[in-house]
Amino acid sequence: MKEIIVVGAGLAGSECAFQLANHGFAVRLVEIKPIKKSPAHTLDSFAELVCSNSFRSDNLKSAVGLMHQELREMDSLIIKIADKHRVPAGDALAVDRIAFSNEITEILQSHPNISVVHEEFSNLAEVAKDNIVIIATGPLTSDNLNQEIMELIGEKSFNFFDAIAPIVYKDSIDFGNAWFQSRYDKGDGADYINCGMNESEYEVFYNELINAEYMEFAEFEKDIPYFEGCLPLEVMANRGKQTLLFGPLKPVGLVNPHTQEQPFAVLQLRQDNALGSLYNMVGCQTKLKYNEQSRIFRLIPALRNAEFAKLGSIHKNTFINSPAVLDADLSLKSHENIFFAGQITGCEGYVESTSTGLMCALFAAARLQNKRIDIPKVSALGAILNHILEHKDNYQPSNINFGLFPDIKPENVKKIKKADKKDLIVEQSLENIKKLKSNLNK
Ligand SMILES: Cc1cc2nc3c(=O)[nH]c(=O)nc-3n(C[C@H](O)[C@H](O)[C@H](O)COP(=O)(O)OP(=O)(O)OC[C@H]3O[C@@H](n4cnc5c(N)ncnc54)[C@H](O)[C@@H]3O)c2cc1C
Repeated sequence: MKEIIVVGAGLAGSECAFQLANHGFAVRLVEIKPIKKSPAHTLDSFAELVCSNSFRSDNLKSAVGLMHQELREMDSLIIKIADKHRVPAGDALAVDRIAFSNEITEILQSHPNISVVHEEFSNLAEVAKDNIVIIATGPLTSDNLNQEIMELIGEKSFNFFDAIAPIVYKDSIDFGNAWFQSRYDKGDGADYINCGMNESEYEVFYNELINAEYMEFAEFEKDIPYFEGCLPLEVMANRGKQTLLFGPLKPVGLVNPHTQEQPFAVLQLRQDNALGSLYNMVGCQTKLKYNEQSRIFRLIPALRNAEFAKLGSIHKNTFINSPAVLDADLSLKSHENIFFAGQITGCEGYVESTSTGLMCALFAAARLQNKRIDIPKVSALGAILNHILEHKDNYQPSNINFGLFPDIKPENVKKIKKADKKDLIVEQSLENIKKLKSNLNK
């Protein structure tokens, strides 16, 4: 049998190569380091944590903590070695990054089914004619490979940076101050949630926005040109007080049913998940510091108690438009031998990247064994996969959060408290992942 080629020995590629090798497949793991390094990578070893040494909360009450536990159930290499090199960090899973990376490297290099090649992978289309190739080259994929991927999937399906607007839980919006309506009642007339401001409320919001603290770009990101259509909110605001009123906060075509008037400014929220529990703040991509974002957006009356599933950011970040170009098994619709894993698929974070690496290994193995594998929808793995494959419109990377899970409640129960719902999700997810594991072992 031919080798499976895994490109990139980061978190996703290391996990993926290990899982495939452990299932008996011959793997060629291709890593560009140490020949070339992205500006964020400094180590020569594999599974490098490029920034924080934390895999975030290990608490089962959080979605990422649940993902840790599911990865443990699935015998993830990354989580096992992270647990081994854990350092004190409250309820977070943080690690000694050097010991962690060295041990992963040692395990992969000495695995009898893995051959490691240090080179810049290229000729993707040609190599994939005869081999399964898994691209796990991350948010800082080398330029040449970026170019090749772009040629395969088209420029429109390829992104060089993310521009993420905050996402709000719908049930934290104050509907005494908000209403459903599309501008000029277009579409079905009620596609957006509108959060209005009068002139004095806008004045306060605007002044806080232009004086807020924001995050600096990293040195290597400074050359990213902003697209005019995707400017950070604070950059637009700094062009003048009226700019936002003719841009993302324009009130025209909207009437507040509570006052029967057109507000002075309106922030619109667009549905972000099929369930309708998450709403995206339209046009509010931002580099404001996280605490500043929650403080300033809560100045808008309808958002005074807003809970954020995700805050905004703008980063250099290579990712593909996965919902448009990938099949259910993370392979390209147009080139079935090419699979994608890790942050390049539009998941975000160490743990999420590891998870897609693991799932991609299961999918590639299933393909070669003519089997079918279904990741349970109620699980953290299933929820991030669903984001990658099913997200509609304006696809942007996401961490795992409870808003990405399907709505569940016990039979014969009409309404369930938020905390109870989380407990139920955790319980069902772990049960589902255990079943998945035992089916794989059959
Ligand atoms: C500056 C920065 C800071 C971040 N901070 C955090 C953080 O604190 N916490 C967090 O959870 N997430 C963070 N992220 C996101 C983080 O990168 C991802 O979560 C995670 O590292 C992605 O894993 P990955 O395996 O997809 O990619 P990576 O871990 O980046 O691995 C990709 C690998 O592919 C290799 N490669 C690239 N091109 C080629 C090629 N042509 N041929 C062969 N090999 C190649 C690279 O050298 C690298 O080893 C950060 C990202 C960036 C860019």
